Amino acid sequence: MNILLTGGMGFIGSHTAIVLLEAGHNVVLYDNLSNSDASVLDRLETITGRRPSFIEGDIRDGIAMQKALANIDVVIHFAGLKAVGESVHKPIEYYDNNVNGTLVLLDAMMKTGVRRLIFSSSSTVYGTPATLPLTEDCPTGEATNPYGRSKLHIEQILADVCRAEPSFSAICLRYFNPIGAHPSGLIGEDPNGIPNNLLPYVARVAHGTLPYLKVFGNDYPTPDGTGVRDFIHVMDLADGHAKAVPYVMNNTGWIAINLGCGRGYSVLEVIHAFEKSSGQKIPYQLVERREGDIAANWCDPSKAQRLLGWSATRTIDDMCHDAWNFESRKE
Ligand code: NAD
Ligand code: UDP
Repeated sequence: MNILLTGGMGFIGSHTAIVLLEAGHNVVLYDNLSNSDASVLDRLETITGRRPSFIEGDIRDGIAMQKALANIDVVIHFAGLKAVGESVHKPIEYYDNNVNGTLVLLDAMMKTGVRRLIFSSSSTVYGTPATLPLTEDCPTGEATNPYGRSKLHIEQILADVCRAEPSFSAICLRYFNPIGAHPSGLIGEDPNGIPNNLLPYVARVAHGTLPYLKVFGNDYPTPDGTGVRDFIHVMDLADGHAKAVPYVMNNTGWIAINLGCGRGYSVLEVIHAFEKSSGQKIPYQLVERREGDIAANWCDPSKAQRLLGWSATRTIDDMCHDAWNFESRKE
């Protein structure tokens, strides 16, 4: 299969590229490098022995998109901006990159006859869960920030496209909390500046690049009072995309599928797992809740098991071990 990965040089795209290359697919990475680095290509080649094609381009460039789509069977659409806090201050940039970018991509797909799309959605579309675990039937529509709303808008746009164009197939993969890194330690999550997300922050504290972790809130209605999330190893997530490829080829219409482990870990449990994996102490302070955070979320992953034959296999210890392996190799 010829598979185009928009945003394929980023964290999740690059790990997915490994699984697809190792499965024998032809992979084209299309990325404007706004949040990634060209050195990823060398690392992918070292890991897989194959060098994917790379096109430096923006998804909002319709002509370039049409050229990139020649001979493509499936698009996996990772490209977009993803920082929740930043999206509150830069809503126009977020809607332009994420929503407008997807519209330009879809228009180019229509013009080139490509009808198969796998989209990076997020558990954020569920907003504050009324019940747990979250199934795909749980209500959406209460996202609390422009980033989350951009994911919801895109899901709805894809549903409309599938209604209008019966030969179109779109899978919205709703990721829970992807963490970890490829076991080689050559690629992983490496945000610029101070990380917003828990794992990259914890990894830098363990490495000594940041002094201590702030634990946002210990008065949530959870077993230890700290937030609970469904963390999933990025390589499990990558496997989920590979399993979605035959599904998107063989079906038409719109579908949403959760990708998570189906169980939650608290912030304190993650800190302790990371301490065990790294052998490093993680100093932390309990501080106020972070605005916009929910207490807990985890998913019911049974739809992915039923329809894609996929379930997560890596443990929280694997996630912390691989994240530390990546972090500790840095200067
Ligand atoms: P990332 O920032 O590492 O990767 C995104 C890639 O897209 C980057 O390489 C960036 O350079 C590229 N990009 C951004 N805007 C572009 C544009 N206009 N044109 C071309 N390329 C562009 O992020 P990630 O963590 O790999 O996330 C991938 C997708 O998954 C995103 O859509 C994100 O919203 C979604 N997602 C991520 C998480 C998470 O926790 N990482 C959770 C849920 C959903
Ligand atoms: N968190 C924390 N300190 C940090 C970053 C995150 O205590 O420096 C907590 C956060 O409040 C939430 C959990 O860790 O309960 C996961 O946060 P993250 O930003 O990684 O993911 P998301 O909020 O998108 O689920």
